[in-house]
Amino acid sequence: MKIITSIFDLNKEIKDYKNIGFVPTMGGIHAGHISLIKASQNKKSKTIVSIFVNPTQFNKRDDFKQYPRDIQKDVAILEKLNVEYLFTPNIKDIYKSKAKKFNLKKKDKILCAKYRIGHFEGVLNVMNRLMTIIKSKDLYMGEKDYQQLYLIKKFLSKKFKVRINSCPTIRINNIALSTRNKLLKKRSIRKASEIALFLKKVKYKSKFESTKLVSDLHNYKIKLEKKYHIKVDYLEFRDEKSLKLNNFKNKYRLFVAYEIDNVRLIDNY
Ligand code: AMP
Repeated sequence: MKIITSIFDLNKEIKDYKNIGFVPTMGGIHAGHISLIKASQNKKSKTIVSIFVNPTQFNKRDDFKQYPRDIQKDVAILEKLNVEYLFTPNIKDIYKSKAKKFNLKKKDKILCAKYRIGHFEGVLNVMNRLMTIIKSKDLYMGEKDYQQLYLIKKFLSKKFKVRINSCPTIRINNIALSTRNKLLKKRSIRKASEIALFLKKVKYKSKFESTKLVSDLHNYKIKLEKKYHIKVDYLEFRDEKSLKLNNFKNKYRLFVAYEIDNVRLIDNY
């Protein structure tokens, strides 16, 4: 595996390479990331993984500082997977050039965009920069971060003529894998697993009594907060394609975000 840190070197290395799959990450490689890498390897002749903890998408400085990083372990995992390229740029290099700024409209300020002010503007900013550098036509991203997937499709897929390959969420003991899970205490992992199982059941029930469940959701939210001592930001049914609220005509998902041990977890079912 070639580890490349500068944009200059990367351009030299993959300049004429068309058939490359791109897996952007913030590191702390886990089975969720690995599933994206394997999806790319199944379709593309080469795969590039980026590891970049992007400061502009953190709306809290402490969250950025505490974000788990273990580059040595990540390199070992990626080597074993026979990934061809790892791109680990530094902050200065990524942000040295001027680039378009993204602003979300009111109708996009829902779910995490409502609770993490500036987060998706930061995500779109860095993805715009990374995609300008890497120029892959195939991006591999996880459904765990569903709203991110939605916004990148909306704002960037046309500009870069890129195919966004969305990959299912990988869970262990019902909990969606996330680099942030490393910050959880054992007790909180147990709670998160119970919460996930409960929400899975709510989604299942919604197939038979969706309208009633919408009115129950607020009570479920309060019940979860009291029972597990967590802060639930949102618990909402939304349309898969449009992210419109409580539209049960098309495929829909149950979206949740909550804070436990000062760690923010998200998932959708
Ligand atoms: P992150 O390193 O958290 O920024 O995630 C990098 C990519 O991996 C994003 O496209 C995520 O949606 C995806 N990802 C993270 N966790 C999972 C998971 N549990 N299952 C599938 N994909 C995931």
